[in-house]
Amino acid sequence: METNDNIMIKEYEILYHDIKEIKIKNLGEKTLDKLKKYGITRLIDFLYHFPRTYEDRSNYKKIRDLLNNEYISIKGEVIEAKVIRTRTYKSMFKIVVSDGYGTIEAVWFKMPYLVNTIKVGMEVLLNGTVKKEYIYKMVNPGYQIIEDNGDINLSIIPVYTLPQSISQTIYIKIIKQVIEYYIESLHEIFPIEFIDKFNLPSRIETIKKIHFPEKLDEVYNYKRRIATEEIFILEMGILQKRFEYESINSVLYNLEDKKNLVKKYLESLKFELTRAQKKVISEIYNDLNSGKISNRLIQGDVGSGKTVVAIILLLYMIDNGYQGVLMAPTEILAEQHFLGNMDIFNNLGIKIEILTGSVKGKKRKQILDELEQGVINLIIGTHALIEDNVKFKKLGLVVIDEQHKFGVEQRKKLREKGIISNIAVMSATPIPRSLALSIYGDLDVSIIDELPPNRKDIKTKWINSENLKEKMFNFLKTKLEEGRQIYFVTPLIEETETGKWYSTEDVYNMISEKGFGKYNIGILHGKMKSEEKDAIMTNFKKHKLDILISTTVIEVGVDVPNAAIMVIIDSNKFGLSQLHQLRGRVGRGEHQSYCFLVTNTTNEVSIERMKIMEKTNDGFKIAEEDLKLRKSGEIFGKKQSGISDIKYVDVVRDIKLIKNVRDEVINYLKKTKGVVENPILKIEITEKFNKDKENNNE
Ligand code: ADP
Ligand code: MG
Repeated sequence: METNDNIMIKEYEILYHDIKEIKIKNLGEKTLDKLKKYGITRLIDFLYHFPRTYEDRSNYKKIRDLLNNEYISIKGEVIEAKVIRTRTYKSMFKIVVSDGYGTIEAVWFKMPYLVNTIKVGMEVLLNGTVKKEYIYKMVNPGYQIIEDNGDINLSIIPVYTLPQSISQTIYIKIIKQVIEYYIESLHEIFPIEFIDKFNLPSRIETIKKIHFPEKLDEVYNYKRRIATEEIFILEMGILQKRFEYESINSVLYNLEDKKNLVKKYLESLKFELTRAQKKVISEIYNDLNSGKISNRLIQGDVGSGKTVVAIILLLYMIDNGYQGVLMAPTEILAEQHFLGNMDIFNNLGIKIEILTGSVKGKKRKQILDELEQGVINLIIGTHALIEDNVKFKKLGLVVIDEQHKFGVEQRKKLREKGIISNIAVMSATPIPRSLALSIYGDLDVSIIDELPPNRKDIKTKWINSENLKEKMFNFLKTKLEEGRQIYFVTPLIEETETGKWYSTEDVYNMISEKGFGKYNIGILHGKMKSEEKDAIMTNFKKHKLDILISTTVIEVGVDVPNAAIMVIIDSNKFGLSQLHQLRGRVGRGEHQSYCFLVTNTTNEVSIERMKIMEKTNDGFKIAEEDLKLRKSGEIFGKKQSGISDIKYVDVVRDIKLIKNVRDEVINYLKKTKGVVENPILKIEITEKFNKDKENNNE
């Protein structure tokens, strides 16, 4: 006896069969072979190969009203059809179409066989560019024959991405059959509550209408359902594994929930936390308090106050008896975190230390010992912390600052040092990789979506001529006289094949020539020893230097409020997110800040970048624009991300949707104790995750 589930599964599995076993008119072996190259081999592939766009033919213009060069669709009856030879003996198929108000001539070159397809008396749709000479004319227009049985009598026609030799008309016939015969097998994957909550159309309706919408503006809603489906399946797959993992490793911890240190720390701050900071902190408190392993990506724009959030979380864990790690991508930044927090921590009676590559000998040994004995409560450092000989007594939380500089492996290594492996990763750019991690890795995402109050926008100007450059130099001098400090940033790197890039030396020479010689200038680049770098940075902080010329070593996190001006040389060499990061070094104090982007690039994409930088200070918008300017292929190198199957989700645009779906999935799995009940959903998850495995093995 078959259960309902079994019947359903059988029906569903047909969709995953090779289509060869299934009879569909117009779909011969040749056509199938061609479609194979487009990844279309099974019924499900047909159903999920969506139109690239649609042609709205609900209003046809009368032929007599057509304009020259207008791109348009018209409908009419064929009143003449024949093959003729041109003067150069090429064959040409010509028809004349009438709509009762006028006539238009259409010709196709080298396609004489059309004479067997388009015949006098037929009704046709033509679309293309109209030429208005002594008659109306179209050359090589798209065509569809309107058949008596009403087959393609649609007012909105889907347009698919197809191999050239398969006509849209034929493909539409095929897809119509597939839908007609098999759509009922496409069983629902969402729980009913979920459909209600997200207000989604059913799966069957969605697929039908996304191919053949009645109105164009309803398509959006169907696409939203498809994106939601993708996220849902993905998150179900990932989180289900995590639920399994957690139920096996259920040696959880129990905090006393002490908050004294946090309270004192907050009192010592000169400001109130923003609503967004509070929200993120409480999200993580919730994790920690429920004894759950916290695994979070904290995203917040440059200057949104991520450090404070990190410190609060670390203090909380320390108060409750654990050690904490704060790891930064550069020594400069580690140093800054250390110096910035040393006093407060000492006052709170907490032992804090710094460990970087340049801490050596006795001092290093002492730190390692004290970490292992649990004497040190908080250790700040660079990737030196990952080394095997760094051991902890009772590590409870690792915070990684500006995570895009760290790889997944490094993260894992750090995590494994912990008694409990709580981890929070902070990133200033919703860069694709970290988002990829949040989807494919097992990170939850918290977003600080607000800046502290009273921040002045940084004024950004693109300097693209010698004239503007001169003006800029004069402006810089005024600002120096007012007591401000200036960063010059240059892409440097080695001598490269493409043209001349300014090195820090070049910039030094350039500004010396321009009369900046009388100011104190420091130079900073990656090849310097860390003591040298520290000395320069410290001097700049103390305003012993007026100008700092630097490579991108200052990109992340550095905080010198009096440095209110940044000049980025050869700014076309940087990506948008990087420019935004760099610019984030200014605008940190009370002074109006400025950023100058110096390049006379003529490259369209570069120009677009400069304009976006001039237009907005919002890091999330910038990340979004960044994605638009790049091709998605560049973003998701298959191997790197494994997100080969995310087709309809835009990880930046849809971040809120991702989060909402994820929350629902968690609720669902909590209720079912990690069991996926819907057999159809199970099939989908298996399909998706097995496929990704295959891709990864490539
Ligand atoms: P980022 O998110 O870029 O790491 P930081 O943590 O370096 O930002 O914070 C930038 C500056 O804003 C710091 O000087 C910090 O002290 C300050 N700051 C952080 N939170 C607040 C707040 N709620 N109100 C005012 N200033 C804040
Ligand atoms: Mg920071």
